[in-house]
Amino acid sequence: MKILRFNEAGLDCNFEVHGKTVEEVLKKAADHARKGHNLEVTEDSLDTWRSLIQED
Ligand SMILES: [Zn+2]
Repeated sequence: MKILRFNEAGLDCNFEVHGKTVEEVLKKAADHARKGHNLEVTEDSLDTWRSLIQED
């Protein structure tokens, strides 16, 4: 599993995204950022999140 923690992405948020692939994690992360934080998701956001994804 791959995991991305939003609190490591500079957001005051304990949300964790799990997925089998990087693409799946990024898709869920983008969804949460939009719905949970009203954030506009840019290529920069995706690059940052991609670099923070860890193997679990
Ligand atoms: Zn959140």
